[in-house]
Amino acid sequence: MHRMQGFGSTIFAEMSGLAVEHGALNLGQGFPDTDGPQEVLDAAKAAIDGGRNQYPPGAGVPELLDAIAVHQKRFYGLDLDPRREVLVTVGATEAIAATILALCEPGDEVVTFEPYYDSYAASVSLAGAVRRTSVLRFPDFAVDEESLRAAFSSRTRLVLLNTPHNPTGKVFTRAELDLICSLAREHDAWVVTDEVYEHLVFDDLEHVPVATLPGMAERTLTISSAGKTFSTTGWKVGWVSGPAEAVAAVRTVKQFLTYVGSGPFQPAVAVGLGLGDDVYAGLSRALQAKRDLLVTALGDIGLDVSVPGGTYFVVADAAPLGATDALEFCRALPARAGVAGVPVSVFHDDVEAARTLVRFAFCKQDDVLREAAVRLSALR
Ligand code: PMP
Ligand code: GLN
Repeated sequence: MHRMQGFGSTIFAEMSGLAVEHGALNLGQGFPDTDGPQEVLDAAKAAIDGGRNQYPPGAGVPELLDAIAVHQKRFYGLDLDPRREVLVTVGATEAIAATILALCEPGDEVVTFEPYYDSYAASVSLAGAVRRTSVLRFPDFAVDEESLRAAFSSRTRLVLLNTPHNPTGKVFTRAELDLICSLAREHDAWVVTDEVYEHLVFDDLEHVPVATLPGMAERTLTISSAGKTFSTTGWKVGWVSGPAEAVAAVRTVKQFLTYVGSGPFQPAVAVGLGLGDDVYAGLSRALQAKRDLLVTALGDIGLDVSVPGGTYFVVADAAPLGATDALEFCRALPARAGVAGVPVSVFHDDVEAARTLVRFAFCKQDDVLREAAVRLSALR
């Protein structure tokens, strides 16, 4: 199919496949190797035993819609009508695709940053829209105002933002968000903001949802997912919230992509969203310790790293390990070193910007992280 030419299979599938084939430690694909809160797991079992095994309502089960609205109020002070302004999707992935398909006509332009999460490029392409990017450069990944301004035009339909950001681990600053939002307002564009790592933020950084910024709620669609927050990436429960008319348009598309999402996981995620502040704080604290472990270990090996403010990921320059092309390096790494990583270059149009950069996931057990560092150091 012309629109999907060049997309092939995702880098995550490729690297996880190589990790399995070579029995390598998988610091490639971003999924935790331990389970999340027991209450959430128990709630899914209870939903299955309680007979909630048929099609749920199209927009999502009422208690999850309510829980998402309550969550947005509790953490961010946002007021949402759970029946009109919230939609449950099959992971954030479906929310991203359905939102872009709902908002974009062929030829419309989507402004985003690179490196970008892989499904952004594919979803923009599926919609027949055009991607316009601004590069975030290693090691600080700061927004470059000039190139961001240049990415906007009279055809800009939406800005696709991701904070905290995969693969860089960057948490956009308030000043950067203000700039992005003012450009969106100037061009009368939507902001579609992927905030799946909203609760995985470290140090004293704060996650600022775009919808909370002045004048933005009416032009912002916010996407999140239970996968990262509750360590349930395999459940594929996501959601999108924003102005009722836009959410209705996304729902129309969603109906014909998947019709509805998986039934029993939805009430379980509702339980998760209602867990206490201590649970949320514990999740990010535990992950921050893993970030520190891997960042220190990679530094000890002599790699330059960008210390991530959030997410599951750290980006390192693998040049001292002999990398000259990140994709080739990562394809060889599982067999060579028994470790899998992800080349950042595949998330770029400007491949040169990330020629030797590799993303490593630290959402893994401490022993796995330590052993991976030992194996990588043997390459020096
Ligand atoms: N957006 C980003 C930035 C991601 O890293 C991911 C992967 N977890 C997704 C979206 C997809 O999320 P889900 O698994 O809920 O579809
Ligand atoms: N979001 C995960 C990552 O960035 C993987 C999701 C996927 O496999 N598509 O590694």
